Amino acid sequence: KKDNLERKDEYIWEIPKEYKGCMSVPGRLYLSEKLVDVVEEDTYEQIANVACLPGIKNYSLAMPEAHLGYGFPIGGVAALDRDEGVISPGGVGFDINCGVRLLKTNLKKEDVKGKEKELIENLFNKVPSGVGSESKLNLSNSELDILVENGAQWAVENGYGKESDIKFCEENGKMQQADSSLISKKAKGRGKSQVGTLGSGNHFLEVQYIDEIFDEEAAKTFGLNEDYVTVMIHTGSRGFGHQVCTEHVNEMEKAAKKYGIDLPDKQLACAPSGTKEAEDYFKAMCCAANYAWANRQVITSWTREAFHDFFDSEIKLDLVYDVAHNVAKEETHKINKKESKKDYFVHRKGATRAFGPGHSSIPKKYQKTGQPALIPGNMGDSSFIVKGTEYAMENTFGSTCHGAGRKMSRKKAKGKYWGGTVQKELSEKGIYVKATHGSVIAEEAPGAYKNPTEVVDVAHNAGISEKVGRLQPMAVAKG
Ligand code: 5GP
Ligand code: MN
Ligand code: MN
Repeated sequence: KKDNLERKDEYIWEIPKEYKGCMSVPGRLYLSEKLVDVVEEDTYEQIANVACLPGIKNYSLAMPEAHLGYGFPIGGVAALDRDEGVISPGGVGFDINCGVRLLKTNLKKEDVKGKEKELIENLFNKVPSGVGSESKLNLSNSELDILVENGAQWAVENGYGKESDIKFCEENGKMQQADSSLISKKAKGRGKSQVGTLGSGNHFLEVQYIDEIFDEEAAKTFGLNEDYVTVMIHTGSRGFGHQVCTEHVNEMEKAAKKYGIDLPDKQLACAPSGTKEAEDYFKAMCCAANYAWANRQVITSWTREAFHDFFDSEIKLDLVYDVAHNVAKEETHKINKKESKKDYFVHRKGATRAFGPGHSSIPKKYQKTGQPALIPGNMGDSSFIVKGTEYAMENTFGSTCHGAGRKMSRKKAKGKYWGGTVQKELSEKGIYVKATHGSVIAEEAPGAYKNPTEVVDVAHNAGISEKVGRLQPMAVAKG
């Protein structure tokens, strides 16, 4: 546990593989001294457990926001050998392809100032939000099949957005291996009723402005300028992804037994690469990932409508980038000069892909800069746009953090904060927050999260991503 941590460098800490008999690699965490104390003991245990998965390469990694998750920690990254490893739904999470996208506008901060409340009301009217919110689309089963096989591309083909949006989504908003024949009736039912909904709690639609640029050249490439307004959308695959995950966790528990995999934690249920269980999960996971991209794309289209109705139809809202932060990907990595390229299932669970300059998977426009990655903070504090690095390619399979990360559980936050008070305090700071319930605002109180600057600075100083710009909240729609 904490006493077993070895400090390797200012921001690198390791759990030696001797800590647990089943570990085949060490655990490696990117943390500042301050953050080491914030991480719960159980999270360290989860990092050690992931190091026991067959075929894990190099390290069981934890990004600076690491906290407790289902099986894998949030902030966990693991590359599992494509031939000799396993695939584990716990390494992806229940909200498959939960992710973030950022739109840049040609509005300035002053254009929005004083109009926050009305603007949010307009957005709330366009985008169904909250736990039980229902889709405005009335899709048939066969339409949903096409949607989950085509992701954001389905949305654009059906009038939600523009062709150019596609190239600024990770994977172009579509994972090719998706196979809708593997989706249960129940998942389809949950999916149909929620396309184009934000969800609740941690999911949000936030109007922000850029208050600082750290890297002029990258900011120019990403099209970011100080004082301009941006919109950040954070949501995932809703009940559809949850259902896919639940069903496959059950199958994987059986598979782990069947293939004789000894697991330190049942929540790490997995199946060896190439088995039917592994392939079926992966193809279904791709469907859920595509669902999430379609969801964010449809919401983007309604966000544009709300801005056009409220300001003027000439207002631009261009997609900077859309990143997934709960997903497993088949990727090729060359870890060091001595080794040759190899294929892995890279699991990122509450972690963001952050590929460095020159990688063929990132848009042409961003080739020289590296991939933009989006790191939300909380509804009362800074969020960041960063870029991927060569260092990340060699050390974290091209990954960085996905957020500030929680400091306390939802339950604890509800006991500590009262929604009305939090809302008032934010309003005094000039931030208008609207949620369907006061309890959501309490659970999501800024104090329930780690300091975003601290987390992003660790990633920056360690070198796994570099800061490009900082965003401040003006108005937030929480589900
Ligand atoms: P998760 O996907 O882990 O629930 O959330 C990702 C990150 O979003 C969290 O770790 C947190 O730092 C950030 N976050 C949660 N709520 C908000 C919000 O309302 N606004 C912003 N900007 N960030 C948030
Ligand atoms: Mn989510
Ligand atoms: Mn998320």
